[in-house]
Amino acid sequence: MMQNNDQNQTIAGFDIKYGEIETVPFPAKAKPKKNLGNVFVVTNGKFFSERYAVMNLHGELITDFVLKDDSFEKVKCFGALSILLPQGDGWSVCDFSGKPFSGNIYDDVVELKNSYLAVGKKNPQTRKTLYALADIYGNPKTSFEYIKIDAFSGGFAVAKQEQRVDIFGNNGKIAFSLDCGEMRSFYNGYAVFNKNGCWGAVDTTGRVTVQPRFAWLRDSEYDRFCYCDVANSTTADNMGVIDANGNIVLDVSKGLKDLTILNESTILHRVTYVREATQGNERILYRIPATGFVIKDKITDAKYLYIGEEREGLMAFVAYTQTSDPPLILNGQFTIGYMDSDFNTVFTLVDYKTKDSFDFGELQPCDSKHLSPFIDGLAVVQIQQGEVRAFRGSTFFCPQPYVIDKKGHRVTDAAAIQTRLSLHVSNSEHTTKDPIADTLRTKGLSVPFLFLRKTCKPLAKNFWSVQDVGEERFVFSSLETIFSRSETNDYGSGGYSCGLLGVNGANGLIGFVDENVDFVVKPIYKEASHFIDNAAWAMRDKQWFILKRSCEVLPTPGESSKVQYDADEKASIVEVKQGSWSFQTKGGSNYYSQNADSLLDAAEILKQIISIPPQTYYMVDTSDGTLGRDMYGFFTEAPIKTSNLRIDNPSGVSESVQAQSLMGFGNMVNNQNSVAQQKNYGQYAKLILMMKCGRCSYESPIETVAGEMERQCYQCGTINQTRRGAISVYTAQGTVEV
Ligand SMILES: [Zn+2]
Repeated sequence: MMQNNDQNQTIAGFDIKYGEIETVPFPAKAKPKKNLGNVFVVTNGKFFSERYAVMNLHGELITDFVLKDDSFEKVKCFGALSILLPQGDGWSVCDFSGKPFSGNIYDDVVELKNSYLAVGKKNPQTRKTLYALADIYGNPKTSFEYIKIDAFSGGFAVAKQEQRVDIFGNNGKIAFSLDCGEMRSFYNGYAVFNKNGCWGAVDTTGRVTVQPRFAWLRDSEYDRFCYCDVANSTTADNMGVIDANGNIVLDVSKGLKDLTILNESTILHRVTYVREATQGNERILYRIPATGFVIKDKITDAKYLYIGEEREGLMAFVAYTQTSDPPLILNGQFTIGYMDSDFNTVFTLVDYKTKDSFDFGELQPCDSKHLSPFIDGLAVVQIQQGEVRAFRGSTFFCPQPYVIDKKGHRVTDAAAIQTRLSLHVSNSEHTTKDPIADTLRTKGLSVPFLFLRKTCKPLAKNFWSVQDVGEERFVFSSLETIFSRSETNDYGSGGYSCGLLGVNGANGLIGFVDENVDFVVKPIYKEASHFIDNAAWAMRDKQWFILKRSCEVLPTPGESSKVQYDADEKASIVEVKQGSWSFQTKGGSNYYSQNADSLLDAAEILKQIISIPPQTYYMVDTSDGTLGRDMYGFFTEAPIKTSNLRIDNPSGVSESVQAQSLMGFGNMVNNQNSVAQQKNYGQYAKLILMMKCGRCSYESPIETVAGEMERQCYQCGTINQTRRGAISVYTAQGTVEV
């Protein structure tokens, strides 16, 4: 977000130039319907026979009012490059004046990412649609021979024929083909495929590493695959794990269910107990998901509902066990206590045998507030000790926290209690008033359609935690902190966007202010939408207008960077050319992406960027995974490969080394918060740290987990062994391990 509206900002590789707000009138009779980003759908506004047209941001209708409800939903914008419009009885890829790039009319067009489309034509005899790979302007690059083409993933797009798949690389050419009935997309360097009813796996060079002999295989994670003996596996089926060459790592006969490969050395398994209860007229479904671990060859039962952070050799746990098999909850036992890192119980605080009816729902929110980690031999707990009935109304938790020692005994030393409790309290949240809300009030302004947030507090400069009802998220500007976005409707998603907030002036009319609450658009409009991709609409005197703010991204010529390594024997210099970025803006965020050959190239390209504004994301796609960078540091949105990497100049050393160090990059506090928040949303996130190679000293940005790891150096290809401690982040939803 810009500090000043007309100030231009320079980031490495780019100049971003914001212009004045431009006002363009709608054509006569056209009223706004939907902002698709770069084009609007407009309506003729008729109650009967309502029809829609597409309008560009110059206020020109690029279709007639011919679209009906079902067809305007199919109009799509492919970034700022092309747009899909109806043509004849099909669809054409057009420019923003509505002119088709070619005479081709298709029955279906699908976006594949990486500036490619799949274009489909229906065979009149068979009535089946067959697809070709096409560029972003709809020009076919292959013949129409595919039943479907999946979007690019992991650097490749899988195109399916009847009994064969063709795998297209980022250059739009076939990298390899495979005779098989079905293949899923590439993840983490492998794709799984089905041949004659059995699943196997292939790597990015087209080598079949796992012969098709499994009834079911999940996509690759950490060079491993979960497998099952049942074709359409559910969480109730027994699962096993194989390595990238098809060797059994964890046999399905061990009877473990619902597996998650956490990292190279740890696999989670889960059972979920369920019970239906009746409370008055209400039927309540209780679920206890209990987790166990497979670490190296040691299997721990799936019984843990909560495990706290390990500190000073101890970690808190809440466990549930019963002798009869899941899924039904029967009479069982709850245990709450602390254990060592090998899962051996050191002491228990609660041992509770469930009897006939109980409320274990309240154990679900158990977190570090109720069972804190140990610091200097002391922990704070809020658990009732001894025999506790867990009926609704009764509770495992007690109102006042108390302090225990490493034997589980209650501490009576007043000074120790005081120190430990005040440390505990300082972690709980407090709310800060937002100065923007005050400024708006002082100036007599209010915000239409929006609601003040429940709480908001600054975590760091310009980085806020905000909470609506029950939902916390992190935002990057103070304007957005005070208002919740209303639901997406025909007027777009509400709230602050593109650095601008719609407000009601003292005269009751709508204008737009910047983050200093200065009017950028004067309050003269009776109605207005929010900005999406730097465009909004507004109405006064019964006339509709497009409000648009130009945003120019000027790429500067590519520069190559030199990387020097300080290891004595193997000093080398690598030059990485800065490739060109493709730019896309979506929902107020800016995305820059490009392809590179290796993670080394990706890391070097991303390291070159000097400063990154909020809501701006750089992604470099390689066949070993996609590495990204934002204002806080590196990030990934899906696992990147950790071994068998594509190395430009492998030095051919096979024995592994100890990494020199593991260091942060960028703003580590915000980085950790952001990873925690992604995890709260159930999204993929890993903390990325710089691993300094024990052999060549190159610093590779790697995905990390708590505990031991092995990661391949991006520069020399040597396997490095390294270790990271546990990191827990306090959020409104509780502590999150990152
Ligand atoms: Zn190295």
